[in-house]
Amino acid sequence: MLNFNLTREQIKLQKKARTFALEQVLPEAWYYDTQDETPVHILKKAFDQGLSHSDIPVEYGGNGLGIIEGCIISEEISAACPGTATSIFDNSLGMEPLILSANAPLKKKYLTRFAKEFKLISFATSEPTLGSDVSAIRCMAKPDGDDFILNGTKYWVTNGGIADYYSIFATTDPEKKHEGICAFFIDRRWPGVRVGRPIPKMGQKCSNTVGVHFENVRVPKEYVLAPPGEGFVLAMKTFNRTRPVIGAFAIGAARSAMEYALDYAKKRQAFGQKIGNNQAIQFKLADMYQKIETSRLLVLKAAWESDKGIDPTLNASISKFYATEACIEVVDEALQILGGYGYTKMFPVEKLYRDTRLLRIYEGTSEIQRMVVAGTVMGGYTPVMPAMEDLPIHYEQNPSKKPSAGRKRGKIWRCRICGHVHYENTPPQRVPLLFFSGQGI
Ligand SMILES: Cc1cc2nc3c(=O)[nH]c(=O)nc-3n(C[C@H](O)[C@H](O)[C@H](O)COP(=O)(O)OP(=O)(O)OC[C@H]3O[C@@H](n4cnc5c(N)ncnc54)[C@H](O)[C@@H]3O)c2cc1C
Repeated sequence: MLNFNLTREQIKLQKKARTFALEQVLPEAWYYDTQDETPVHILKKAFDQGLSHSDIPVEYGGNGLGIIEGCIISEEISAACPGTATSIFDNSLGMEPLILSANAPLKKKYLTRFAKEFKLISFATSEPTLGSDVSAIRCMAKPDGDDFILNGTKYWVTNGGIADYYSIFATTDPEKKHEGICAFFIDRRWPGVRVGRPIPKMGQKCSNTVGVHFENVRVPKEYVLAPPGEGFVLAMKTFNRTRPVIGAFAIGAARSAMEYALDYAKKRQAFGQKIGNNQAIQFKLADMYQKIETSRLLVLKAAWESDKGIDPTLNASISKFYATEACIEVVDEALQILGGYGYTKMFPVEKLYRDTRLLRIYEGTSEIQRMVVAGTVMGGYTPVMPAMEDLPIHYEQNPSKKPSAGRKRGKIWRCRICGHVHYENTPPQRVPLLFFSGQGI
């Protein structure tokens, strides 16, 4: 039976995350945005309150929360500051390859530790020369006995400058593409790990982003998350579980943009009345609300699939590109409602505008999500309707009435291109002017 209600525990969690967002994140968000700095103390508070690292399985001493709960928390924190939400959730992204890995001793050692101690864990597939095409990884992992020697650069590493550990994807041979990809769990303190300067960004300034360089870094075999040939699948499985959460960031940010616009529309006067009295403004608000509600349905469906162990690949992509694109439209319209003030740093929509633009890019661009969905539609989709050439056209004869004189009862087929009419129960194999069936149009 369908049930759209959150459970009592989930409502409690939502309330807790909302209070945290309003009391801890919101008051500091603009300061840290201007400083281009991650508020690490807020990340620590989130950890202390069980709002970060909350997906560590119970068997390792964690809270064992699911993707739905991750979405609930992330929507609230992103409503206050999408950049801080990115920095908090990045730990789940960084830990996900470890959680999914088959390396039981490594999981035990680190997940148990991360459940107790505040540690930051980053994730890196991207490099200076690639992001979307994960199979093109160049960072080299050269086998050396049972160990690996890592050389290369990972780029765009969220929290990379403040992280304690990294889940790194590399390759034993770039020519092998997917087959060469492997993954490792790296301690930042290991010799040869160097962190670059923060990358200057348009928005999400409360989230640190850097390049991380590896020079002859020895990775003991105990730190292998995925052996060569299994890293690509591990990365994709990770994204399947984290993409709905990016959709949740989008919902939170869009919700705030709509609320700021609603507030303004009820107060701002133009032409002798509140601008919110104009139907044109009301319709904008209605569209915003519709997009937010639709996004939430899609995101929670993908999260629910993931938590139930159903393959969420398709809906993770749909929810990510729908929610993030809807969010950018909502924020843009909110800025429009605020008029000139919307474009200033004195009002909050400007920051949302900058922060949310990233959502369409990281964890797979909108184009990549469309490629995933198109792959299913073109390759694996089973249509309900028959092929068009197998559809009879009935307009010359009412099937429930007797056939007219000289005509047999039967279906009528009309070639939609040459117009030839064929009276039989089965479609024609060929028509006089062209072959239709099986020949392509
Ligand atoms: C602030 C920030 C934080 C990030 N954090 C992380 C992180 O923590 N870890 C990490 O690994 N990465 C991270 N990334 C990297 C991010 O995931 C990539 O930027 C993203 O996947 C896109 O890759 P790219 O920038 O190399 O673009 P490219 O892959 O070079 O693509 C450029 C453009 O071409 C389009 N395109 C590419 N291929 C196709 C195709 N076949 N068909 C149609 N269009 C195509 C893309 O959609 C995009 O619009 C972060 C990025 C940013 C900006």
